Amino acid sequence: MSQTPLVIPNPQDMRQYSAAVRAAGQRVGLVPTMGALHQGHLSLLDYTAQHSDRLVVSIFVNPLQFNQQSDLDNYPRTWERDLELCAGRGAHVVYYPGVRDMYPQGFQTTVSVAQVSQGLCGAYRPGHFDGVTTVVLKLFNAVMPHLAAFGEKDYQQLQVIKRMVADLDLGLEVVGRPTVREADGLAMSSRNVRLSPAERQQALCLWRGLNRARSLVRAGETQTPVLAEAARAEIAATPATKIEYVEIVDSTTLEPLASLDDRRARLVLAVWVGGTRLIDNMALN
Ligand code: AMP
Repeated sequence: MSQTPLVIPNPQDMRQYSAAVRAAGQRVGLVPTMGALHQGHLSLLDYTAQHSDRLVVSIFVNPLQFNQQSDLDNYPRTWERDLELCAGRGAHVVYYPGVRDMYPQGFQTTVSVAQVSQGLCGAYRPGHFDGVTTVVLKLFNAVMPHLAAFGEKDYQQLQVIKRMVADLDLGLEVVGRPTVREADGLAMSSRNVRLSPAERQQALCLWRGLNRARSLVRAGETQTPVLAEAARAEIAATPATKIEYVEIVDSTTLEPLASLDDRRARLVLAVWVGGTRLIDNMALN
């Protein structure tokens, strides 16, 4: 089913659209993105299309969540292709606000989730999750979805958003979907286009590290320092990589775990490959 989606450029028109859909008793589904769409995004579109009557895809490169101006300036922007992909997946609306529509003169409110956004990426990217929660709440307020889908690829982001939705009684369903990978295991990411051919090969050490830990778990290992060290060693053995963190945490609170025991554990990591920062994660039990 291919249709040209309606492009809605501001929060006011978006609310009006969704209010009418809701009044007609239909379900609104939202997939928030920063564009440069790939198969990972498309898996979220497909899931959301199946579980709602109206699929809204938002495309907004959010300046608030970038730590470096150069990262924002160089973020891939592929509008025409994104629109085609959305059409191909049956999206009804592409919500495409400009920076001034989202953050008009005088804007000064921040939404901040305290604990779950502090460690891991939060520790290395000050203010990043405040930028994410602020924009996502604004997207929720404009789109008024019944359902919003996010990728487990950005695992901490997913937990932070779930916490915000529960804490603020937003009354919508947040669904986390599995990470979509390239055939060789690399997690798909809009930033992967920045990897040189050599770095693209080196980047596979993240996947190897995750799998190394998981195979030790399958062999009976439960001590998280042993598991994390095994993943770290696999990554550190690859040239041109710099580990930011490799940690094993509770899969909901993201608190560090000393052993697997009966807690649900997630191995989460962030690694620089050359000038590109990559993240990945895996359930361990
Ligand atoms: P982004 O455009 O990077 O902000 O991502 C938009 C949404 O797509 C977020 O919920 C991401 O977690 C999700 N996403 C990004 N990469 C993947 C992937 N490889 N697999 C599944 N979901 C993904």
